[in-house]
Amino acid sequence: MAAPRRRTVRDLRRGNRAVVLSKLYFDGPLSRQELGPLTALSSGSISNVVAELVADGLVEEAGSVDSDGGRPRTLLRVAPRSGHLVGVDVGETRVRVELFDLALGELARVDEPLPEAARDGRCDAKDVVRLVTAGLTRVLADAGADPGSVIGVGIGVPGIVDASGAGGAVVHGQTIGWDAVPLEAMLRAPDGLPPELAPDVPLFLDNGAKTLGHAEMWFGAGRGARNAVIALIGSGVGACVIADGLPYQGASSSAGEWGHTVLRVGGRACRCGARGCLEAYVGAEALLARWREAGGDWTAADEEGALAELLEDPSTADLLDETAEYLGAGIADLVNLFNPERIVVGGWAGLMLGPRLLDQVRRAAASYALRHPFAQTTVELGHLGPDAVTVGAATLPLARFLETGGARSSPL
Ligand SMILES: [Zn+2]
Repeated sequence: MAAPRRRTVRDLRRGNRAVVLSKLYFDGPLSRQELGPLTALSSGSISNVVAELVADGLVEEAGSVDSDGGRPRTLLRVAPRSGHLVGVDVGETRVRVELFDLALGELARVDEPLPEAARDGRCDAKDVVRLVTAGLTRVLADAGADPGSVIGVGIGVPGIVDASGAGGAVVHGQTIGWDAVPLEAMLRAPDGLPPELAPDVPLFLDNGAKTLGHAEMWFGAGRGARNAVIALIGSGVGACVIADGLPYQGASSSAGEWGHTVLRVGGRACRCGARGCLEAYVGAEALLARWREAGGDWTAADEEGALAELLEDPSTADLLDETAEYLGAGIADLVNLFNPERIVVGGWAGLMLGPRLLDQVRRAAASYALRHPFAQTTVELGHLGPDAVTVGAATLPLARFLETGGARSSPL
């Protein structure tokens, strides 16, 4: 009978640490006196938990405030330098690795282009592993960070991530030619993650649109919403559906593949092999292809530069009008299917197109959506900029860290 009781006490302690740590993380700095009513813990429990978290180096003092006639109250916050987080964005043309402190302040970043073949839907997962590994080594060295302080590595990928199998997360990236690629196992292999990182460093893989969704929900345009859709428009198109505060996953984590919903039966060929997908009209790659078919051309070497040229070219007005209508129709589908209170358009291409197209997109969405749910929805741009996928990837280990009350590795 002793074992269950011990476990219960430990669970309670960890739960209290998690509550205090999360409150300080999201709402800090706070005094011990403020933490009481915010956490529903007794002042004695608050004192004990705070003392422990301070002793562990996770919480530090952050000045003081006067209290009415009494002693000044010490403010507490999560110590930003008490650990490091890594966010990785495996894009379709490059791999970006960023090192953050615990407050998600950026300390170092590396951008590495993928080989040319990756851009033709033939992305070799070995190249991705090599670039992630090299990037990790570089950002740790550039920031002078102790590899032992890395709490975890979050990786956003352009595909469906199935983490249900025993061998680690597997990626189904139909548009980049990945069919059940065992990316987690490849990263864990001896020639995977850099040797300076602990072999059991927590790794979290998720779809890039979902990591963007995490970031916007925690820190950006989605904050405070219970039902929202965060749309990612980059080379391709994806979405993260937040239902009652949580990402909606579906049976095998593929929910939210909005880019491959059909907008025109028998329409343009999509990279997924089907026809008429939303992505085949409004993804940056497709938009550039449509411009080229209409006689357009550009000088920039990358898609970002090419899309900037497209936006500046006076001949593209009709193409952009049509794109706004397609995107509006796609958004109307989201409104009718999910009844979100907020739709956030992010991703590098979404943020480039947004300032020019958003009003048109809203008008188009209004004309295609049912009136009642559309009236409850706002359509706005993401707040976190084009780098939000890496921030969101880093929130994956951060979420685990907060949930476990600051545990460095496996919670059990
Ligand atoms: Zn498709």
